[in-house]
Amino acid sequence: MLRTFAEVKNAISSGDTVMSILEGYLNAIEKQKGLNIFLEVFEISAKEQAQLVDEKISNGTAGKLAGMVIGLKDNLCYKNHKVSASSKILEGFESIYTATAVQRLIDEDAIIIGRLNCDEFAMGSSNENSSNGPVLNPINSEYVPGGSSGGSASAVAAGMCTASLGSDTGGSIRQPASFTGTYGFKPTYGRISRYGLIAYASSFDQIGPFTNSIDDAALLLEVMAGEDEFDGTVSTKPVENYSEKENLSNLKIAVLQESFDTEGLDEEIKIKLQTTIDNLKKQGHSVDSVSFPYLDYMVPAYYVLTTAEASSNLSRFDGVHYGYRSPNAVGVEETYKKSRSEGFGEEVKRRIMAGTFVLSHGYYDAYYTKGQKVRRVLQNKTNDIFKEYDLILLPTTPTTAFKLNDVKDPIAMYLQDIYTVHANLTGNPAISIPLGKHSNGLPFGLQVMADHFEEKKMFNFSRILEKL
Ligand code: GLN
Repeated sequence: MLRTFAEVKNAISSGDTVMSILEGYLNAIEKQKGLNIFLEVFEISAKEQAQLVDEKISNGTAGKLAGMVIGLKDNLCYKNHKVSASSKILEGFESIYTATAVQRLIDEDAIIIGRLNCDEFAMGSSNENSSNGPVLNPINSEYVPGGSSGGSASAVAAGMCTASLGSDTGGSIRQPASFTGTYGFKPTYGRISRYGLIAYASSFDQIGPFTNSIDDAALLLEVMAGEDEFDGTVSTKPVENYSEKENLSNLKIAVLQESFDTEGLDEEIKIKLQTTIDNLKKQGHSVDSVSFPYLDYMVPAYYVLTTAEASSNLSRFDGVHYGYRSPNAVGVEETYKKSRSEGFGEEVKRRIMAGTFVLSHGYYDAYYTKGQKVRRVLQNKTNDIFKEYDLILLPTTPTTAFKLNDVKDPIAMYLQDIYTVHANLTGNPAISIPLGKHSNGLPFGLQVMADHFEEKKMFNFSRILEKL
């Protein structure tokens, strides 16, 4: 199976067609159907694209991503194709436009192979909150693949596409990457347009790739990043040549002491982090332990703010405009109530209610305003660290993947995100790199966080880590 774009390009230069490459992936999907990774394969449109790209290759006009086969998380719009955010409330809904990030891939001749299972409205850490049933981890199907982009991570891990897109609001790319042994990368907030991404918490959401190499993640960022008139929060900063390799020496790395000391951090992950630190020092980099005394505030601040934004974003799903409408309702008011009660799953309803509460008159200042203030403190402290240090190194997840149905308490599930929500609260770019295999046979990642818009440095440092 072709795991990276380099392998795809090799195959093409030794005579393979894009159509045959696509068929290879389609077979892999068919053979592993039981893992419940793809919600739908876009066979007809993918084959049409493949034929076109083969023609372009033969007349020398093919784009940068010719032959790269990409799966989409089921919350990214692709014109004339279904999208449901793995929710019953969007049942039958078809996109009427294409997300900017997706359009940019297509413009460079990538092939869009289908849409991937995820947690409903990207809320979850195990992919068990999908209205289509859970995704099984391809490394070991008794385990969850993580979430919310569990299908996107698993598709890349199982060789069903060259790369995939996910979205990361609090860790939904990096955590499943850690659980499946793939690379998962969340860009700086505003680096990639969110136009056409079904919103969860708009001031946190970012689109990003899953890949089997750093090179592919860098290339995909290069193609997707940059100004877009359809997203007012996207940055106008010029897009760098992220693929360019640079040798970095004498880096100053910070390790957040509290993340190292967290109760519940798996001993083997901790040892891996420690050996990585030792090896970096041997190579002449300096690694300091830096205190970040706010770790305990991260998850609460994240859940106050994201549920508030979600309750507002999800108010548009009313049974009138999109997808599912309750057949049992009479009149407008009842249509809203019943469609929403029947259309949303339990976790989504929990968050809409929590968000409505924190925004309600009388509690607004105590929760929402307070949450915003905490977010500012976290941002300031993080900026201070980046004044002195090039990068931050930390675990991605406290443990390796857990078994299906094992984590039942919502709070315990929320704590899965303890190391990942930081980058979303502060808007920094972060990547999870598959750096370890646990004695239990499951993979895990380490996470690198960089200063805003320092993705290039982040990729080049990731290459150093990989070589260690
Ligand atoms: N697991 C986190 C949550 O449930 C993160 C989700 C995400 O990044 N979309 O909110």
